[in-house]
Amino acid sequence: MSAGDARSDRDSDGSEAILRTDGLLKEFGNFAAIDDVSIAVEPGEFRSVIGPNGAGKTTLFNLISGALSVTEGTVTFQGEDITNLPPEQRIRRGMARSFQISNIFGGLTVRENVRLAAQALHREEYGLREALFRPTDRYDGINDDTDRILDRIGLAGVAEETAAVLATEPELVLFDEPTAGMGPEETQNTIDLIEEVLVDQTLILVEHDIELVMDLSDRITVLHRGEVLSEGTPEEIAEDEAVRDAYLGGMT
Ligand code: ADP
Ligand code: MG
Repeated sequence: MSAGDARSDRDSDGSEAILRTDGLLKEFGNFAAIDDVSIAVEPGEFRSVIGPNGAGKTTLFNLISGALSVTEGTVTFQGEDITNLPPEQRIRRGMARSFQISNIFGGLTVRENVRLAAQALHREEYGLREALFRPTDRYDGINDDTDRILDRIGLAGVAEETAAVLATEPELVLFDEPTAGMGPEETQNTIDLIEEVLVDQTLILVEHDIELVMDLSDRITVLHRGEVLSEGTPEEIAEDEAVRDAYLGGMT
């Protein structure tokens, strides 16, 4: 995949964007976790969002996916203002967060899938077989755990639908640190898989490994204290002094 070729006819105002945010603001109390963020992502683009811990990357994803409501500003997806749509409506329009799509049982509901995953977390305690097949009425807290997870990942609204709804080909996929906790080899495999499976889709990736980001991205958005510090191609970002000072300088 070569970076940049498809963007030569890009409008300066980003009007061809599949996703755009305009003047996004998200306040938690008096604190602006996202402050006047405007980005435009083109169809087919591989965009990475980087920045130090606490920069607002996950919050930005939550605003795009609808898991959090915005304080001010708009989110536009495929030309439609989706700022106030619930997460499930965004999923239906072709937006997906990084579920482990390969591990979904299409015939079960979304809730059942999430509950299975929650049950599997108890495998140390009960053994995998018992963890998975134990009747849920004898499973302390498993339904509460399931509800909490559904809420957190923004899927409460589609909980009773079959999970096939998640398997529909998404146009835009958001990955928030998909390789967190993985070793180098597993990280590389995951990235290869993402590139292979999602070659036609638009991707937005949050990833700590700067080398991977430099290698994969068409464009990079650098967030710093809730604001866009810089945006550009990997080459431009690598040479950006403000980015180096604020961020890359402190990295490996
Ligand atoms: P990143 O993903 O870049 O590490 P986050 O988006 O998770 O950063 O967080 C950005 C800032 O917003 C942090 O200072 C964090 O403490 C704060 N924050 C995130 N979520 C909440 C919340 N629900 N309530 C209050 N503050 C929050
Ligand atoms: Mg985060």
